[in-house]
Amino acid sequence: MICAPVVELSECILCEMCTDLCPSVFTMNENGYVQVEPLNVYPTEEVDEVIKNCPVDCIQWEDVL
Ligand code: SF4
Repeated sequence: MICAPVVELSECILCEMCTDLCPSVFTMNENGYVQVEPLNVYPTEEVDEVIKNCPVDCIQWEDVL
């Protein structure tokens, strides 16, 4: 079981805080939406910091696969 951050795109206001703070995980795709990179291991502390600072609280950890 892998735990990964998931962004609720319908709530995301594209402030780019996550992509600035943690660019190894959060990137902007060609459609202009935040994308979570597929990694085997996520930097927990960094992602937690991003989750805490997202202005609209639209990122959360979810179990994937
Ligand atoms: S920090 Fe939150 S609102 Fe800002 S771009 Fe990332 S997911 Fe969207």
